[in-house]
Amino acid sequence: MDFKYRLLTPGPTMIPEEVKLELSRDIIHHRKDRFKSIMRGLQPKLKTLFGTKEDVLILSSSGTGAMQAAVFNLFNPGEKVIVVEGGKFGKRWTEIAKKRSLKPVIIEVEWGEAVDPELVKDTIKKEKDIKGILVQASETSTGVLHPIKELGEITQKFDILLVVDGISAVGISPLPMDRWGVDCLITGSQKGLMLPPGLSLISLSEKAYNKALGVISSDFYFDLKKEKNKIKQGETAYTSPVALILGLNAIMDLFLSYGLENIYKKYWALTQMTRCGVSAIGLSCFAEKNYTWGLTSVRVPKNIDGKELLNKIASTFNLHLAGGQDHLKGKIIRIGHMGYVDMSDILFALNAIAWTLKKEYNFVIKEKDFLEQASTSYFDAKEQGYERYFS
Ligand SMILES: *Cc1c(COP(=O)(O)O)cnc(C)c1O
Repeated sequence: MDFKYRLLTPGPTMIPEEVKLELSRDIIHHRKDRFKSIMRGLQPKLKTLFGTKEDVLILSSSGTGAMQAAVFNLFNPGEKVIVVEGGKFGKRWTEIAKKRSLKPVIIEVEWGEAVDPELVKDTIKKEKDIKGILVQASETSTGVLHPIKELGEITQKFDILLVVDGISAVGISPLPMDRWGVDCLITGSQKGLMLPPGLSLISLSEKAYNKALGVISSDFYFDLKKEKNKIKQGETAYTSPVALILGLNAIMDLFLSYGLENIYKKYWALTQMTRCGVSAIGLSCFAEKNYTWGLTSVRVPKNIDGKELLNKIASTFNLHLAGGQDHLKGKIIRIGHMGYVDMSDILFALNAIAWTLKKEYNFVIKEKDFLEQASTSYFDAKEQGYERYFS
């Protein structure tokens, strides 16, 4: 009881009170008017979130379900797609593509770095019959932001679908689907949307939907054509996740009243603050240049096991951070600053990390005023630096 439970992972994330209250309501019936009118009212809000004029479909699944839905509904077996593999979630695209018997052309990107759009362009020219690009907007396993806008400029000129896993980017950093030429955008409930896990969102451009019309999916449950017809009536194909949808409606009202741009600015400031604090402590960030806004990946000093460090932080401070995945296990820690997180949570996390390093590992903190530096960085970042992302 010394410390509040603090969940600072890149999903699931903490949830605001307004959402918790919605989740505790009576379950209304998913085929009756009251629910359908909520669903109809939700569409324009979700379109604003996605930056699209197309319908935003709601699936009962974690984010991976929507990834699968995209691959199975947009591509026929045997088609060739480029997969950007720069982390665990990039690899997941490849696994799903193989399940659909696609021919993935893998662009391997060093973990911690973003894909070079020129390389994608060259690969398209070399391979000739590429039908799609599967990529993450934000590769959560490494903390990298891929250049989606630049990829969209390339794919718009070809008969190629740009399929973007925005699970740790939507509602966190700018990703306007239509303006950037994204053909399929996906997100999940438990990241930037500040909801419990269990719901995913997916939208298809006209180009993607037209392609889907010619595809026979081998998947019964994830049928995007069926979902698209149903959403027009304010329904989902099967029983809707009613509580989560009420929560989604509440969070969208919060987002839109605060303003999406202000939300992005806040995450930008939290990111700058975390990075500043981390380096003032004497640690280095894993993603150096193209870093995402919802989490910060941090290298753990060589003689320290990251998993043990996280356990010590959790047992002393009741603060739950994420570790590394695959070959980064034990080597990095990931501080989530997406979801219902504010400056004081990050100050707490920086302090907990520094304290534990000092007490348990005799680590020498570089700058004693690291918290003050981080705070200053937050307010400075609120004023500047983000403008170029809003073009
Ligand atoms: C969390 C995450 C996923 C996986 O989502 P699940 O909800 O666990 O299925 C996929 N891609 C990215 C980029 C993620 O951050």
